[in-house]
Amino acid sequence: MRIQIRPEVVELGKMFQAHRYELALVGGAVRDLLLGRPVHDYDFTTSARPEQFEPILREWGRDGFWDMGRKFGTLGAKRRLSSGKDLSAEVTTYRSDTYNPDSRKPEVNYGTSLEGDLSRRDFTINCMAVRLPSLTFVDPFNGHIDLKKHLLRTPVDARQSFDDDPLRMMRAIRFVAQLGFDIEASTAEALMDMTDRITIVSAERVRDELTKLMLSDNPAQGIDALVDSGLADIILPEIPALKMTIDPQHRHKDVYKHTLLVLQHAIALETGPDGPVPRPDLTLRIAALLHDIGKPPTRKFEAGGKVSFLHHDVVGAKMAARRLKALKFDKQLIHNVSKLISLHLRFHGYVDEPWTDSAVRRYVVDSGSMYARLNRLTRADVTTSNVHKAETFDAAMDELEARVRDLKKKEDLSKVRPELDGTEIMKILGIKPGPEVGAAYKHMLAVRMDRGEIGHDAAVDELKSWWKDQGQQG
Ligand code: ATP
Ligand code: MG
Repeated sequence: MRIQIRPEVVELGKMFQAHRYELALVGGAVRDLLLGRPVHDYDFTTSARPEQFEPILREWGRDGFWDMGRKFGTLGAKRRLSSGKDLSAEVTTYRSDTYNPDSRKPEVNYGTSLEGDLSRRDFTINCMAVRLPSLTFVDPFNGHIDLKKHLLRTPVDARQSFDDDPLRMMRAIRFVAQLGFDIEASTAEALMDMTDRITIVSAERVRDELTKLMLSDNPAQGIDALVDSGLADIILPEIPALKMTIDPQHRHKDVYKHTLLVLQHAIALETGPDGPVPRPDLTLRIAALLHDIGKPPTRKFEAGGKVSFLHHDVVGAKMAARRLKALKFDKQLIHNVSKLISLHLRFHGYVDEPWTDSAVRRYVVDSGSMYARLNRLTRADVTTSNVHKAETFDAAMDELEARVRDLKKKEDLSKVRPELDGTEIMKILGIKPGPEVGAAYKHMLAVRMDRGEIGHDAAVDELKSWWKDQGQQG
């Protein structure tokens, strides 16, 4: 097996060898090198203990050093390459983990051999190593054969492996999405039987694998595998719930299939590093995945065989926030995803009747920093097979985007504020801080969006007349 290895990596091997320590490249880097995929970080395993190899790693990694988890035996360092990119290396002492059936994390024990270390890894394709600096290929579980066959197989009995660390079930599915591989039959069978075990894994670890799945080349395939396996019933039950029984008239589309299509469309609309929606974009992808989860709980069969999903946008936004919070996603992502879901139907009315400038302003202000993503989600949501309908919709969105560009030339929509601030409002009306000031501010913001800038004097008149109406109502 010939593998091209960067000179900096071989150099690290030579430095370990000089101290009579073993070092081997392991895991994802070996797999990706054999597959011809880009390697983003290099994992190594060694016979040395962290306190023994720390000085070597510090010397090698002149451009950065970090402690990944000294008590788990892992230290990291990086080296700036001539290309300007960083090569990051994480080195872990040989391990032979033991597992407590109810514990969320394996108990860490140091091991004594490379082969022993490889046997506790997740899949045969991740159990290959290259000893350094000799470049000896080590593959005790014939990972290279599974790699050729595109198969994910555990190196030891699959039930034992998934029982030891149930997160491996999520990892299998993540690799389905990332590499396009299949899960070998007996491994898949064990996975289907053992999905319940995922409940002992911490939400953070599940979140990290789900994130990698969503950022992979083919998240729709990964989500489908997650649903097929039964794991989604536990970690993301809103998705299998989209497979609603079709009504007798078959009047509405299969929401589950529609969702996977929307996810694929949304990905195709990502712009790349220089555009407004980078590729891959977690926010847009998760929003696409969850945009219709409000449908099952809001479904109503109306007279005449019609089906409605009243307020599924609002309901779905709340459900998404709850689920993402349970999965420990960060607040900003939760906020953005739920905003996108709550606004995903807003544009639809535009197709029949183009909006006033005021409605366009509101759309831009309400979507805020999610504007570019919202337009993409909205476009992606059109999965009709009616070509004419789809073209009309796209043209309407093109028109809206052109109008927004024009409006932005004239006014700074990111800074839309009422023409009177809180202090001025209190002074003009002669009132003290309280809910009335908030109500007045809201009204003046609505005026600003509806009518654009009307000037200070007109704003004062408007405020006074609104206040008079309030008095009459109260
Ligand atoms: P990538 O870095 O491309 O996401 P990877 O295979 O390198 O994929 P990591 O999560 O970086 O995945 O893990 C590095 C290696 O550690 C894996 O290749 C595998 O050998 C081993 N490994 C990681 N997680 C587990 C686990 N839960 N159980 C067993 N082995 C694992
Ligand atoms: Mg890795």
